Amino acid sequence: MRRGSWRVRILIGLAIVAFAFIRRCSNQEENPYTGRTQNINMTTEQEIAIGLQSAPEMAQQHGGLYPDERMQALVDAVGKKLVRSSVARETPYQYDFHLLADDRTINAFALPGGQIFITYALFSQLNEPQLAGVLGHEIGHVIGRHSAERIAESNFWQTLATGASVGGDMGQLVAGIGQNTLLTNGRDDELESDELGVLFMIQSGYDPNEMIEVMEILKAAAGPNRVPEFQSTHPDPENRIEKIKEAIQKYSGR
Ligand SMILES: [Zn+2]
Repeated sequence: MRRGSWRVRILIGLAIVAFAFIRRCSNQEENPYTGRTQNINMTTEQEIAIGLQSAPEMAQQHGGLYPDERMQALVDAVGKKLVRSSVARETPYQYDFHLLADDRTINAFALPGGQIFITYALFSQLNEPQLAGVLGHEIGHVIGRHSAERIAESNFWQTLATGASVGGDMGQLVAGIGQNTLLTNGRDDELESDELGVLFMIQSGYDPNEMIEVMEILKAAAGPNRVPEFQSTHPDPENRIEKIKEAIQKYSGR
């Protein structure tokens, strides 16, 4: 390749990289509910719309909703109590708690904007305070805007990878860094949600020590073929329990 075209490629590559960084800076905002500064490129309305749009498909993937209305009513009652008693009630999100029919996959997860799911397989192993712990953790993902943050981060790394590949065929390398960053964020997401879950449990009158029991239940349930949402990003369970104990100390004294 001629020297001149290399120079142009590098310039274009640098321009794309600069664009990615500038956009990232302009996307920085402080989360009013957690106080954490995040890189976000969508509105809360968009988050809610994405969640509502994806909810039916999510339910379908887990065999639809659990047919027994009484069980669903319990999930609703505990979920609403958590929202009512915490900062969640001040957020614009629309919280819906869905009990899924799936009785084999131990799982719970949240879509952006407030759509929260728990499988019957997990639900059936929990007492009410533990259910509150799981739902509180999922509300933490919503309030922490973790999905929106991951989407913004992955856009950033994609743009960066594009710039690097145009400039100097380094796309693969940068893409690799991006992957690691996403995984690291995932682990931090879990820890932040655990802490928020503990806080919401206390505010709703539940014993936060039950969150430790939830971790033990998940640990026992996770076999080689079962990766519950709580462990999908591989935070060390013992480290998680340590952090939960710290959160209990931090918030119980209030
Ligand atoms: Zn989680």
